[in-house]
Amino acid sequence: MQIARTIAEARAAIAALRAANKTVALVPTMGALHRGHLSLVRAARAACDAVVVTIFVNPTQFGPNEDFSKYPRTFDADCALLQAENVDLLFAPQPGEMYAQDATTVVEVEQISARLDGQSRPGHFRGVATVVAKLFNIVAPGKAFFGQKDAAQVAVLRRMVRDLNFNVELVVCPIVREPDGLAMSSRNRYLSPQDRRSALILDRVLRHIQSRAAAGAIDAAELIDSGLAVLADEPDVRLDYLRIVDPDTLADLPDVERGALVAIAAHVGPARLIDNVLIPSR
Ligand code: AMP
Repeated sequence: MQIARTIAEARAAIAALRAANKTVALVPTMGALHRGHLSLVRAARAACDAVVVTIFVNPTQFGPNEDFSKYPRTFDADCALLQAENVDLLFAPQPGEMYAQDATTVVEVEQISARLDGQSRPGHFRGVATVVAKLFNIVAPGKAFFGQKDAAQVAVLRRMVRDLNFNVELVVCPIVREPDGLAMSSRNRYLSPQDRRSALILDRVLRHIQSRAAAGAIDAAELIDSGLAVLADEPDVRLDYLRIVDPDTLADLPDVERGALVAIAAHVGPARLIDNVLIPSR
């Protein structure tokens, strides 16, 4: 596995892959890799000739009081995992390589970026859209792989790709969970054993709503209320949002008849965790 630290090195390595007529997949990550990330790498490996993974803790998507400086950085372990997955190129730049000090250009996906996590984390999706646009321009992948775990991010990036005519296919991979249901996340490392037990409530709330919907309930307000009643079992978990929205626009839906995204975000101990489930159209 080749490791590029600069944009020029990454471009040279990718030019060599292209010269060998290889199709290129991109898997953007912030590192602290777990099985969720590896599921994207495997999907990329199966779909394309060459796999490029990026590890970049992107400062512009963190708010001033968020965990940018504390975000887990486990570069050596990440390299070993990616090497074992036969990744062709790891691009791991520092912030100074990605952003000129006087950079003033951003990608703003209006409206969608102000919903769900974008409402709780102002500017977050501007940072995400901008860095992913930059990675698309650096790597020029045919396909790029993202997790359904970050459902709002998927909606923002789909709209960006459509509106700005990026020549890339977004592939969305299912949420990988721990055996007890907790969605895998780099931020799970922040959880104490007690927090780790409390965190299971996110999955329980979602599964409760999913089973009520499967049993015929359609009213979004009613479904959310029943989810909030389950959440009350864990008074230490501080809800950020629980919403039933259109998966493409992230706008609230009155009912789940035509399918819906049920998304939750909550603070558990020092971690802000997110999870979601899709309800199929009936
Ligand atoms: P991150 O490193 O948290 O920015 O995540 C990088 C990519 O991995 C994003 O596309 C995430 O949606 C995806 N991802 C993170 N956790 C999971 C998971 N548990 N299952 C599937 N994909 C995931």
